[in-house]
Amino acid sequence: MNRSFTNKIILALLIISGAFLFYTSCSHPMNSSSYVVFGTECRITLPVSDSKKYFDILKQMEKKFSYRDENSEIAKINKNAGIAPVAVSDEVFYVISEAMRFSAETDGAFNPLLLPVIKLWGWDTGEYRVPTKEELERYLPLCDTNNIVLNENDKSVFLTKKGMGLDLGGLLKGYACDVLYEQLKKDGIKKGILNLGGNVFVFGNKEYKVAIQKPYAERGVVADNVFVKNKSVVTSGAYERGFYNNGNYYHHIIDPSTGECAKELYKSVTIVSSSSLVADVYSTAIFVKGDKLKSDFLLNYPEAEVIFN
Ligand code: FAD
Ligand code: MG
Repeated sequence: MNRSFTNKIILALLIISGAFLFYTSCSHPMNSSSYVVFGTECRITLPVSDSKKYFDILKQMEKKFSYRDENSEIAKINKNAGIAPVAVSDEVFYVISEAMRFSAETDGAFNPLLLPVIKLWGWDTGEYRVPTKEELERYLPLCDTNNIVLNENDKSVFLTKKGMGLDLGGLLKGYACDVLYEQLKKDGIKKGILNLGGNVFVFGNKEYKVAIQKPYAERGVVADNVFVKNKSVVTSGAYERGFYNNGNYYHHIIDPSTGECAKELYKSVTIVSSSSLVADVYSTAIFVKGDKLKSDFLLNYPEAEVIFN
């Protein structure tokens, strides 16, 4: 990546959910607004006065994809686990198919079927607990990616065992960034910043400076800066969501091979890519698998960059 940049427009962002700094000195004033969507603060900064249309897109997506919303398509699939296939919209079918493709591509480090184990830990409710080894052994088979059937003909999804569940939290913000970017291009908007709970996408004809949060430090302490143009910057880190129990720290990124929190091979993994979906998936997956997956990733996605902190 070209690390030189002009000073004409410099936007400095902190890659942290819910907060970032923003400066600009361009002729078209940029307006910034934020709402809580996907359970996190989403901020959209554009040279237009009203971003409602784009937040509406995010809210529609949340309605379709949140397993927490019992009327969502994902909740319907989960409710019918072990009972019957559920026909879904083209969009939901596409995202689930992509999630399963990435699961295979990352050799299972990315697994969108971890919901049974995520529930054991209490990540769904916030009532955290540490599951026993026996519980994890009992529930892990429900996360087996062989037990999902995707039928392209009728766009149906079937989780074949009762108790299985889809959770697309590891990639949906990335997908949403890409969808918004495409829409913004169609609408003729030539520059902007999307920050969906730390999934950042910056676009325009100038480089942007994006600052990466130092793990476990106070909000705003910078570990690293990257200079990017028309790219997404996504960070996964254990420090973002976790709880203490008996002096031990437990976090929200699960190693699908054990059901335990992934070992902190690195405190955070940042991916820079032109696809926010790819960046979101691989920040999570490389956090789980570390260096080995990094090499394969860079071979498959040579435009991307991986930053460890
Ligand atoms: P990432 O590293 O990108 O993803 C980690 C998340 O993915 C985990 O939290 C877990 O959900 C899942 N995961 C863990 N391990 C793996 C793995 N190995 N492979 C694949 N996935 C894994 N949160 C709330 O508290 N309240 C809400 O109401 C709420 N609603 C949401 C609605 C939607 C539609 C979505 C997508 C998320 C929602 N969330 C909600 C979740 C919240 O935004 C999460 O913090 C976020 O999705 C996790 O992203 P991340 O960038 O922090 O971490
Ligand atoms: Mg992710």
